Amino acid sequence: MSNPLLASWTGPYGLPPFAEVRAEHFAPAFEAAMRAHLAEIDAIGASSEPPTFTNTVAAFDRSGRLLERVGALFHNLTSSETSPALQAVEREMAPLLAGHDSKVYTHAALFARIDALHARRGELGLDGEQRRVLERFHLDFVRAGAKLAPPEQARYAAVMQRLAELTTRFGQNVLADESQFLLVLESEADLAGLPPFVRDAAREAARERGRAGAAVITLSRSHIVPFLTFSERRDLREKAWRAWTSRGEHAGASDNRPIAAEILQLRLEQASLHGYPSYADFALSDTMARSQAAVTSLLEQVWRPALARAEDERTALSALALSRGESGVVEPWDWRFYAEKVRQVRFDLDEAAIKPYFPLERMVAAAFDCAARLFGVSFVPRPDIPAYHPDVVVYEVRNAAGAIGLFLHDNFARPSKRSGAWMSAYRLQSRNGIDDAAPVLPIIVNNNNFAKGAPGAPTLLSFDDARTLFHEFGHGLHGLLSNVTYERVSGTSVLRDFVELPSQLFEHWLEEPAVLKRHARHHETGAPIPDELIERLHRARHFNQGYETVRYAASAFVDMAIHARTSSEPVDVVAFERAELERLGLPAAVGVNHRLVHFQHLFSGSGYAAGYYVYLWAEVLDADGFDAFVEAGNPFDAEVARRLARFIYSSGNSIEPGEAYRAFRGRAAGPEPMLRQRGLSEPVPS
Ligand SMILES: [Zn+2]
Repeated sequence: MSNPLLASWTGPYGLPPFAEVRAEHFAPAFEAAMRAHLAEIDAIGASSEPPTFTNTVAAFDRSGRLLERVGALFHNLTSSETSPALQAVEREMAPLLAGHDSKVYTHAALFARIDALHARRGELGLDGEQRRVLERFHLDFVRAGAKLAPPEQARYAAVMQRLAELTTRFGQNVLADESQFLLVLESEADLAGLPPFVRDAAREAARERGRAGAAVITLSRSHIVPFLTFSERRDLREKAWRAWTSRGEHAGASDNRPIAAEILQLRLEQASLHGYPSYADFALSDTMARSQAAVTSLLEQVWRPALARAEDERTALSALALSRGESGVVEPWDWRFYAEKVRQVRFDLDEAAIKPYFPLERMVAAAFDCAARLFGVSFVPRPDIPAYHPDVVVYEVRNAAGAIGLFLHDNFARPSKRSGAWMSAYRLQSRNGIDDAAPVLPIIVNNNNFAKGAPGAPTLLSFDDARTLFHEFGHGLHGLLSNVTYERVSGTSVLRDFVELPSQLFEHWLEEPAVLKRHARHHETGAPIPDELIERLHRARHFNQGYETVRYAASAFVDMAIHARTSSEPVDVVAFERAELERLGLPAAVGVNHRLVHFQHLFSGSGYAAGYYVYLWAEVLDADGFDAFVEAGNPFDAEVARRLARFIYSSGNSIEPGEAYRAFRGRAAGPEPMLRQRGLSEPVPS
C-alpha cells in the first residue's frame, strides 16, 4: 500500500530511501505529485487577495517540491543506475511530465497574477534577487506558451509532449547501441601496443560482463579513447572507431535518424509558434550570446587558426607514419595513435608514464583541497549514509558555520550508466522551503565514467580524466556554494552559456604546479610528480589543440546550422551533416566523434540544442577570469577568491550574468585569453 516515494524522507539530509525504491513506485508517485502540484498552483491562482510577490511569486517558487523530489530521484537513477523497468517508466512518464509542465506554465489564473506583478515590477519595492526571480518566472511562462491563444497552446503542449517522448527514446537508443557493442580482444596480438592500464581496464570490463579471463573494449569513452591512442592494430582501431561513430545509425529498434529528424521538425514548429524563423533564433534569444551572428563570430575566431594548426599537426603525424614504413595517410582512427607517438618524441611524454601519478583518490583529494583553499569548505566522508550504488561515495560539505550540503561522488563507468560526465542534483539550495524556518541544503551529484582499476588495484586517471573530474566538481561547487533565497535562481539554474564557467574555470587549478606537486603522487611510492614531468606537461599543453579545436568547433557549427534551418521539410540528418562538414572543410583525417545520430547534447533533451557553442563562450570567460588570479600573483589569492565565490559560485541566477562577471572581474571579458589558452593566438609555425 505505502509508496516510499510519497512518504516523508526522514533519512540524513532528506536523502531518498534508495533501498526501498522500486521502478513500479514511480508512476503512481508521479501522478500523486503532479496532482498535488496542480492543487498548489490552483490555490495560488484562486486567491482572493491581490497578487503580491509573497503570495504569488515566492509561493510559486515553493510549489511542486514533492514532484521535484520524485523527479530528481528518477532522473538521477535513469542516468546512472538504470534498468529496463526504469526505462519503460521513463518512456511512459516523459510525455505525461511534459503535459504537466504545459498545464503549469499555461495556467491562466496564475499567469494573470504573475503578468500583473511583472507589469508593475519597478513599483513593488523588490530587492535585486526578487526582481530577477519575477522576471525569470515571467519569461518561463512566456517561453512555454502562456501568451498563445488556446488552440496554439493546445498544439504547443502536444509538440512538447512528443518532443519529450522522442528525446527520451534518443538517449535510450544510444545507451542500447553502447551496451550492445563489445570489441573482444582474443589474443596477445589483439592487445598489441596496449599499456598495462588499458589491459587491466579491458579485463575488468570483461569480468563485469561475465567474461572473466577475456579482455573487452566497450564504447565508454574511458575505454575507447585509450584504445584508439595505443592499439597498434590499425584494423581493430578502425573497427572500434566505426562502432563508436555509428551509434544511433543502425537500422532497427535503436535507429536515431528518424527520431532526430522528427525532433528537428517539432523544434522548428515550437519556434514558429513563438514567432521565430528558426529554433536557433528561439533558443538563443534567452542567452548571453543572444543571436546566431554572435555565436558564428565567436566560432569563426577559432576556426581558421585551428584549421591551419590541424593541418600542421596532420603533416607531422603523416611524417611519423612514413617513418614507420606505413602509408602516411592519416585516417580518423589513426589520429590519436600517431599523435601519442609524436607527443612522446617531441615532449618525451608517455601517457602510460603520467597515469601512475594520477590515482583517482588523490585527484579527488586535490579537488577538495582547492575548494578548501579557495572557498573554505571541507568534504567529510559519510560512509554511514547509503546511496544508490556501492561505488558512490557520500560526503558532508561544511564551511566554518557548519554543514552546507551533501555531495555524492559516482566515478566509475558501468553498463547501467549513460556515457559522459555530468553534475546533477537531488535537491537545490534555497531559503524558501516548505517549512520556512529551515534553509534547504543542496544535495549534489557528480557522475564520471572512469574505467575502474582491477580489484585491489587503484584507478589511474589520464590527465584528461583528471581535468574532467575537476570540471564536474566545478559544476558541483556551483550547486553546493549556492547562496540565494529562491530556488528558481539557485546554483546552476543560470543561462546556458554561463553554466560552463564555474566548471571550466575550476579546471585551471589542476594545471597549477603547486597543486600537482602536492597531490599528483605515484600510486606505489607516494613520490610527488617530478618537476620536469610537470614542465613537460606544460610545454605540451598546446599539442594537438588544432585537432581538438577543429573537432569541437565543427560539432558546434553543425549544431547551429541544423537548428538554423527554416524549412519544415524532414531532413536527412546524415546527409545534412556530411554536406555541412564538407562546406566547412573539415579535414578527413580529423573526423567527428559527436555525430548527430548520437549527439546527446542536442537530442537527449533541449538543454544544449543550438547550444553546443556554450563551452567556447564560457571559455572566453574562464580564461579571462583565471587571469585575475594570475594578475594577483597567487592562484589562491584570498580577495580574488572572495569575489569569485560571491559573484560566480554562489550567486546562481540572482544577478544578470554579464553583470555578475563584471562584478567579479571589474570589467567585461575579451577573447584574447581564450585564444592564448588554446595556443591559437601565435602565428602557426611553418
Ligand atoms: Zn560542464
